[in-house]
Amino acid sequence: MNKLKKVTKELAKLGLGGDVQASEFRKSVRLTGHVGSWDEKVAAGFAAANRGYKGVLNDITVEGVGEEKIYRYDPGDRDLEGRYFDVLIIGGGIIGCATARELARYDISIAILEKEEDLAMQTSSRNDGMIHPGFAAHPGSKKAHYNILGNRMYTKWAEELGFELKRPGSLVLFPSRLEKYLVPLMKMRARKNGVDGHYRYISRKKVFEMEPNVTEDQQGAFFLPSAGIISPYKATIAMAENALQNGADVFLNCFVESFEMDGGRIASVRIGRGTVKCGAVINCAGNFADIIAELADDRFFSLHGRKGTECILDRNTGLTQHSILSMPRLIQRKSKTKGGGVVPCIEGNILLGPTAEEQPWREDFSTDRGHFQELLQKLDLNTKLSGSSVITYFSGIRPASWEEDFIIEPSERVANLVHGAAIQSPGVASAPAIAVDLAKMTVDILSKDKTVEEKTGFNPRRTVSYHQIETVEERREMVGKNPLYGNIICRCETISEQEIRDVLRGPIPVNSLDGVKRRIRAGAGRCHGGFCTPKIMEIISDELGIPMVEITRKGDSSPVLSGEAK
Ligand SMILES: Cc1cc2nc3c(=O)[nH]c(=O)nc-3n(C[C@H](O)[C@H](O)[C@H](O)COP(=O)(O)OP(=O)(O)OC[C@H]3O[C@@H](n4cnc5c(N)ncnc54)[C@H](O)[C@@H]3O)c2cc1C
Repeated sequence: MNKLKKVTKELAKLGLGGDVQASEFRKSVRLTGHVGSWDEKVAAGFAAANRGYKGVLNDITVEGVGEEKIYRYDPGDRDLEGRYFDVLIIGGGIIGCATARELARYDISIAILEKEEDLAMQTSSRNDGMIHPGFAAHPGSKKAHYNILGNRMYTKWAEELGFELKRPGSLVLFPSRLEKYLVPLMKMRARKNGVDGHYRYISRKKVFEMEPNVTEDQQGAFFLPSAGIISPYKATIAMAENALQNGADVFLNCFVESFEMDGGRIASVRIGRGTVKCGAVINCAGNFADIIAELADDRFFSLHGRKGTECILDRNTGLTQHSILSMPRLIQRKSKTKGGGVVPCIEGNILLGPTAEEQPWREDFSTDRGHFQELLQKLDLNTKLSGSSVITYFSGIRPASWEEDFIIEPSERVANLVHGAAIQSPGVASAPAIAVDLAKMTVDILSKDKTVEEKTGFNPRRTVSYHQIETVEERREMVGKNPLYGNIICRCETISEQEIRDVLRGPIPVNSLDGVKRRIRAGAGRCHGGFCTPKIMEIISDELGIPMVEITRKGDSSPVLSGEAK
């Protein structure tokens, strides 16, 4: 049967009515028509995927779902007008920043263009920070390939860039004895994917030796020792700071609006701050990567956002659990998530999550009671956890393709465009490996027009003037040098005035409360800024010379104060 007929037949099985049609668009399949619910549109997208087309363009409209207003803020200046960069990277998430760092090894000019007021403001700060072992990804997929390589690379990247990485390992718990029979299958998948470490079956007795607080009903587990954890936003910022140190630029509040094309190439990129000329463009725009492809007339995929909500538990909960705890997903073949679980964070908190829900919006990070209730059920895995430990919750949106795999390739239509798109989970775990390939593809493009050589002076080690003081001994030593390291502002996380001032003098401009929090966790503790927010604002105001009323939580749309009272 020809592939279009196959798609049409699959759509017919869904019973969506005659209003949904499939047609061919270049090498992809395009769905059009109108349906009554988002779930129907999603079902159609999956029905058309993996039928031999390059991608699925799901243009079905949905009753009651209109256009989304995308956040953008233009500072109003035109300071980038007419500038040239060899490479423009669209998106300052972990993929864009890791790629900038890889490219900074070469003697070329590089700029990251990010629409938000800081880096890692979208999916790269809204996740579990798990360096997955590479077991869950489908064998043979790009996800599996990059996850395995990325996981391996993190040891070196964390050491060079000075962010914390731990490898507590992951216990896939067996709630009944039956799951033990899955172990040969699990081993086979781990072997096929090339998972590192001595992954193995762990008996019930051994599970309780490793994790004494796990609930009684667990009957054993599959242990994957290479699973790790990082702070995803600290890692993203560290990657960008090292790129900067090696000559790259970062421009924030830079929304990419359109491209000027010339003979099948992107000649320049239009942003609010000017029109910037370029040698090549890398599309790392996360949930907007399909829009960027369309702007370049390279439409071959469309994304659908899958929201995931997480709960953050108090910092002391980390003492009750060492490993990442999850449930087996191998038997739930239709699931579109690895299932999450109870995940220790690098800072000591525990995360519950994530959930998975298809939604039309690319930037709706709201949370709701239903998700919260669903997450609380995960508390059942650890007897020492309870709902009273919850500090807050948040959501992120996974940018999924209909094929459920990463898109990492040079454009087939635009000579100087490379896509790092549809990077849903395990995107954090895969980032270093994806970055190596995106950088190589870009260097190949640039090399057609000029000689691209590796820099002799590339320094892989990040050196920045700020960091979070971790021990009493270090604090004592620092206070001896400067008493402001003893003026504790954030009591929950023990962050001093001088640590905050150091952040504000860092290489990437920070002027919001969340920008400070993302770097040294001031305001991220139990009280969640309830006590320290005014003090942090005073420090920002004093250090940067901006009035208190201009300080925001996370950029232009989030003022903290409404005006001056006295
Ligand atoms: C709930 C949840 C849990 C997850 N857990 C894990 C995990 O434990 N481990 C793991 O490996 N992965 C995990 N992931 C997946 C991981 O977070 C993503 O794969 C990864 O962060 C994607 O990074 P990115 O750089 O592609 O996207 P993003 O971080 O979204 O970055 C894209 C950037 O592009 C910018 N942008 C978009 N359009 C424009 C424009 N027009 N102009 C300028 N800038 C633009 C955006 O503002 C954004 O900052 C999880 C995801 C979710 C949602």
